[in-house]
Amino acid sequence: MAKKLINDPLEVVRESMEGVVLTQPGTAILRDRTIVVRRDRLSHGPNTDLPVALISGGGAGHEPAHAGYVASGMLTAAVSGGVFSSPSVDAVLDGIRAVTGTGGALLIVKSYTGDRLNFGLAAELARSEGYDVRMVVVGDDVALADDDENAGRRGLAGTVLVHKTAGALAERGGSLDDVTALAQAVATGVGTMGLGLTPCVVPGSDEPGADIAEDGVELGLGIHGEPGVTSIDMAPADDLAGRLVDGVVQDRGYESGAHVVALINSTGGTPPMELAIVARAAVNLLQQKGIRVDRLYQGLVMTSLEMAGCSVSLLATDVHPDLLTLLDAPTASIGWPSRGASDVPGLVQVEVPAAAWSPQEEEGVDDRICAGGIERACNALLAAEEELTLMDKVVGDGDLGTALARGARSWLGEPQTGDARHQLRALAAVVRREVGGTSGPLYAAGLLRAAEAVGADGDWAAALQAASEGVQELGGAKAGDRTMVDALAPAATEATAGLGAAQAAARRGADATTSQVARRGRSSYLGDRVKGHPDPGAVAVTVWLDALSD
Ligand code: ADP
Ligand code: MG
Repeated sequence: MAKKLINDPLEVVRESMEGVVLTQPGTAILRDRTIVVRRDRLSHGPNTDLPVALISGGGAGHEPAHAGYVASGMLTAAVSGGVFSSPSVDAVLDGIRAVTGTGGALLIVKSYTGDRLNFGLAAELARSEGYDVRMVVVGDDVALADDDENAGRRGLAGTVLVHKTAGALAERGGSLDDVTALAQAVATGVGTMGLGLTPCVVPGSDEPGADIAEDGVELGLGIHGEPGVTSIDMAPADDLAGRLVDGVVQDRGYESGAHVVALINSTGGTPPMELAIVARAAVNLLQQKGIRVDRLYQGLVMTSLEMAGCSVSLLATDVHPDLLTLLDAPTASIGWPSRGASDVPGLVQVEVPAAAWSPQEEEGVDDRICAGGIERACNALLAAEEELTLMDKVVGDGDLGTALARGARSWLGEPQTGDARHQLRALAAVVRREVGGTSGPLYAAGLLRAAEAVGADGDWAAALQAASEGVQELGGAKAGDRTMVDALAPAATEATAGLGAAQAAARRGADATTSQVARRGRSSYLGDRVKGHPDPGAVAVTVWLDALSD
């Protein structure tokens, strides 16, 4: 069985809805049902004095849809079926009765056969009980042809734009006619195209609903973990976003000069970092086409469990004169990705502030020995990149080799001349800028101390000693803590006896870390697990120290 944070597969929907109700202000759940309602909109029958109710729902597994949108300014009730399966007619009817009064109700239904039938019949039954109920079906999926060859276009993330705008109008006191007309205009206008990178597993089953090739992407996706309309090869985010944007723009016929609202949705498994890269690409592409993005939203809006992937929804701003005002209206929903950029003119960049000290000052007489030593040390670190990265993978996060190599490469690309003090200070600046992590600031501190200690005659033993003290002061590690100090400190002590003695001492110290438990840095979280592996930072010290020669 796939690992999931659940208790009982049969209880996932109810339990997750309870969690939403606990979080979302002003909501309640119907006893023994998977129906979430606004507490301030409870009905006692069709004659209860209430504004227009907005009711949506469908299968579960699309969280925060739909319970996460039950809030002031959005839905009045959400009716959930099981994971990826429509709620029953009776469940929808319960939802209608719970929140519908004199204002009537609008059902916002994603276009799937099951949902259309269950919501449709419930609407009819409710009307026979005296409720004024309308229904708008959303089929924003542009990947499928809009003809009689298939069950028609599916409802995707664009549905949430219907929830938001219709919800804002209902909150303002709009009539059922007006709210229905707006919802219909948004539903007709919005187009969505999605893609999937990994499949999802329905709770309680052990196999994903569909396979997605290791290096493949499913394009033109629904929201139930099903395969897309086509499979394509994995590609950079900009290219994949381009397929989605192009698909929607062509289908909707948006041309240069058009204004749109863009909604970039994660299908569940795609983290905010990647989604932001897709959002960036989408805005850039739209701008290249001369299409103005009036509002940009990104987040988990309509998911398919843990599927990695995304969708792009675009809606022409002119489908309704109040569209932007309605999108901007407040809602207490925890699911709506609030604060979409109010107007996206393009990326705003400001200048990096200049440093007060510049390495160009006080160059002094060029020290060729120092330059040669730094060059050899850098080359040795480049050669050891892979080895150090592998070591850091075992006991840390696997970035040490690349981080030090980044610093080395940067220095070698533009080595500084000048006396030893000047070179070491310039190297500290490069390390500070390029290396990062824990090693970056520690090496920079050591190099700054070494620069002050090395003196005009090149007292390298004093420089190493000062560096070792600088690292220990900033990092707080002592010998025996299983860090770079275990190589650096003995090397500094032995340096007065010559470079060879220092190198040997560093190697002995690095070897000894193999049997030590870390008390500093990331490795300290691993306890005994690091035993048997040397500390990568200590090994890195032996790498550059061994590259130096008298
Ligand atoms: P991280 O990725 O954990 O931020 P790096 O990969 O840049 O750090 O460096 C890891 C190395 O840093 C460790 O192998 C260890 O030698 C060294 N280190 C960690 N903490 C300290 C410390 N407090 N003092 C000295 N060295 C340290
Ligand atoms: Mg690391």
